[in-house]
Amino acid sequence: MAKEWGYANHNGPDHWHELYPIAKGDNQSPIELHTKDIKHDPSLQPWSASYDPGSAKTILNNGKTCRVVFDDTYDRSMLRGGPLSGPYRLRQFHLHWGSSDDHGSEHTVDGVKYAAELHLVHWNPKYNTFGEALKQPDGIAVVGIFLKIGREKGEFQLVLDALDKIKTKGKEAPFTHFDPSCLFPACRDYWTYHGSFTTPPCEECIVWLLLKEPITVSSDQMAKLRSLFASAENEPPVPLVGNWRPPQPIKNRVVRASFK
Ligand SMILES: [Zn+2]
Repeated sequence: MAKEWGYANHNGPDHWHELYPIAKGDNQSPIELHTKDIKHDPSLQPWSASYDPGSAKTILNNGKTCRVVFDDTYDRSMLRGGPLSGPYRLRQFHLHWGSSDDHGSEHTVDGVKYAAELHLVHWNPKYNTFGEALKQPDGIAVVGIFLKIGREKGEFQLVLDALDKIKTKGKEAPFTHFDPSCLFPACRDYWTYHGSFTTPPCEECIVWLLLKEPITVSSDQMAKLRSLFASAENEPPVPLVGNWRPPQPIKNRVVRASFK
């Protein structure tokens, strides 16, 4: 594999295990969800997020995704409840998307691929640092939200409008006063399972909360996301699209539903 992982033929998901062997582990993400096989677990609690808009700091293009970064030096923006044993701190959110509207999500639901998938990454402060949390099976909690094509989402436009400042790889811009709970769907029903980051090193440290209800964004909004570049300013332009990992084997894992 090339020095740096990516999503192209020569450095894409099929090659990641060459540098990151855990990418072939027993708890990898994403997975296919087959809803008729998923059992409701009545012991699963409702979840809640209390985010401090002042903790949003910057938005950046790392050549793999666009990411909004939050101040996580203390308990400012927190996720609680659901399958989680304690509070988790919001660190960043980012998206995965396709080259066209008919695919782009990482998880699939009964064979359906959504246009994009939003990941809100939180870590368990009982492990003191984000780096330590990455080594624990319950170190990280990711809320995953599917984006489907429909009505424009006004709140999502706040993120998209900032993309003009981070067109190319390595660019970063201030992004403040933003509460990402404005991107949540109305319904809080979720599926949960134990898995991994979907990008190298693919650490198996994630409690996933995948929200059943997608949010809708317009086709124009998706096009704006695809206007980013995976290349740096001084390089030949490469569009930033197709940054999704395909589903991985579920192996012995069980997915649980918070709802009937
Ligand atoms: Zn992700």
